[in-house]
Amino acid sequence: MPSLYEPTPPNILPQLHQRLLAFYGKPAPRDVWDPLTQLIYSLLSARTKTEVSLQIIRDLRNRFDGWQGDWTRLRDASIAEIEEVIRPVTHYEKKSRQLKETLQQISDRIGVLRLEPLGRYRTEKIRAWIEQLPGVGVKTSAAVVNFTTLRRRALCIDGHHQRIAQRLGLSSPKADARQVEADLMVLVPEDWTPEMLDEDHSLFKLHGQTLCTKNELRCSKCPLLDLCPTAKERATPKRGPYPAD
Ligand code: SF4
Repeated sequence: MPSLYEPTPPNILPQLHQRLLAFYGKPAPRDVWDPLTQLIYSLLSARTKTEVSLQIIRDLRNRFDGWQGDWTRLRDASIAEIEEVIRPVTHYEKKSRQLKETLQQISDRIGVLRLEPLGRYRTEKIRAWIEQLPGVGVKTSAAVVNFTTLRRRALCIDGHHQRIAQRLGLSSPKADARQVEADLMVLVPEDWTPEMLDEDHSLFKLHGQTLCTKNELRCSKCPLLDLCPTAKERATPKRGPYPAD
């Protein structure tokens, strides 16, 4: 039987992007932050709803005077003070300690509590540096370099993006976020700007929240249907244990 998984066409990513763009429309423009504020947001937002995480960033800015990206007062606050503000996020006790430790490490290692000085390095070097901080993985390092004023080429792979890339056969079902990003970056056209990669992330996230969710695949309504091996597989009648012929 021929495989349902065909070789990946070289222009697949622009095709998927255009289809999602036509279907969902242009994502709302991002409020582009400084990289340290994004790092704080990413650390706090794990397993927490976006609206809650955004409110916590506003609360932290108000409480610790962080509106200009100066988080010195947050770094110098006690764990109890930080916990009091971030209590609505999941695992707030662990995250409070992690946040304080992260801010202290940045101050000690850069000499100033900001991440902009890393901007003089190559993207890979910045990401490797950020990933040495407590609790920081590949998704956060991509967000910090791509979503912010650093605006580097990177693709932030969240759970939605990872799952859809795997269902589309663009990455192995066992691939982790780092591998999925590497697999997709090979398919990214050279002229895609950091802003387009950001938009791609937003479109896949939206798709993962609506039609291609973790537990429900609404393939019949999906604009990617004819490009998707998982949809083909689901549409193929399963053979029973005893062949009919
Ligand atoms: S066709 Fe189905 S499995 Fe494929 S991307 Fe769309 S919803 Fe997901």
